Amino acid sequence: MPPRILTSWRLPATCAALLIAGGAVGALVGAMLAGVTVVALAEIVVLLSLFRHKSGPMLQSSASPHPEYDRLMTRTRRIASRLRDLRSAAGTLPDAVVLLDHSQHVRWFNHAAEELLGLKRPRDRGRLLADLMRNSELAEWLAEGAREPLNDVTAPGHPNRHVTATLLPFGSRQRLLLARDTSHLTRLEQIRRDFVANVSHELRTPLTVIHGYLELLDPEDVPELAPVLDEMRAQSKRMGQIVEDLLTLSRLETQDHVADEHVQMAPLLASLRKEAEALSQGRHTVSLDMATPFDVLGSPKDLHSAFSNLVSNAVRYTPTGGRIAIRWAEAEGGAKFSVQDSGFGIPATHIARLTERFYRVSSSRSRDSGGTGLGLSIVKHVLNLHQARLVIESEPGKGSTFACVFGSDRLLDGARLQEAAGLHL
Ligand code: ADP
Repeated sequence: MPPRILTSWRLPATCAALLIAGGAVGALVGAMLAGVTVVALAEIVVLLSLFRHKSGPMLQSSASPHPEYDRLMTRTRRIASRLRDLRSAAGTLPDAVVLLDHSQHVRWFNHAAEELLGLKRPRDRGRLLADLMRNSELAEWLAEGAREPLNDVTAPGHPNRHVTATLLPFGSRQRLLLARDTSHLTRLEQIRRDFVANVSHELRTPLTVIHGYLELLDPEDVPELAPVLDEMRAQSKRMGQIVEDLLTLSRLETQDHVADEHVQMAPLLASLRKEAEALSQGRHTVSLDMATPFDVLGSPKDLHSAFSNLVSNAVRYTPTGGRIAIRWAEAEGGAKFSVQDSGFGIPATHIARLTERFYRVSSSRSRDSGGTGLGLSIVKHVLNLHQARLVIESEPGKGSTFACVFGSDRLLDGARLQEAAGLHL
């Protein structure tokens, strides 16, 4: 018969073993969660050993009279050791890992979190994460709810590094903040941008010279070369357009905001309609509907370039006899500029990739119609700079609608502004 005190240890030991066995199943994150448990478990093991030590020869004999107790002890030690291993693996992960409680107070973090996020042990345990990240983009992101991953921001603990952060829910209202060092990707991206910008810039001058000489040549002087000359002119014009579009994209990529200028929609829409008609040369019916008086706050030049790309696409990808409708109307708590055509349409599988550089549904159709493959990429960048979205709806054989949706923050009540200006005259 074991001493009474031993029986009273069985229950906590069994519970601890079962609890920790459950924790062991959940790999790395489980290990972090079980961090506190490991400490408690280690204490149990020490206490049990002490107890054995103090309980005298009956418990210490080699042929133990309490095999169930010994088995539990061995299991507990093994699980504790595994949890310690997992915890130390989480501790050495190259990504920053911060375990937060339901009110975003820091419970645990690894070494990478010290380096990338500037957290200090033990000072920051139990403190509010947003307070520790103060004045950083991460703090703003956390304050806004951190619903989407945050890409490529300066690491709060290291001004020369960039991180991408994600906030994952787990357990009962707890959160796990993961931050990955993306500095090398940012550097590569910068190299790519500089390369494209430099190449485009270097190509611009020789192309202008070639184009200039080609313009000087008169096909009537050498009639047999007239078709060749026409083709050379068309190709040099196309190359010039590609270079200009690449330079526009490079400029847009390096900008992080646009000037907040008053973009008057009525004259802008009227000039887009004229452009569409000039490009169509009577092959399509072009309509314009300005259903809202709102103007936009942003860059007139960039918005004109984006809208113009959509209008030009509609004309180029709509067969003769088709309809093109340009609209500016209120939508989704803001307003949207849309271009609807009755053209070829786009199969659904291509839609998600249309804004990638040089992505074309049909290369020959794009080239034949004078496309560079960069138009929608430019549209996407311009809209990003205006916190607006591009929504594409299309059905092959029926047509497409490309809509630029602006939030209410970007809208100006044009009529009221004019009224106010009139009062000041
Ligand atoms: P491109 O200069 O080739 O037109 P864009 O980036 O403007 O390049 O468009 C990418 C591709 O998307 C086009 O090649 C075309 O296949 C498709 N596309 C764009 N607009 C339309 C449209 N209105 N109707 C059908 N296809 C379109």
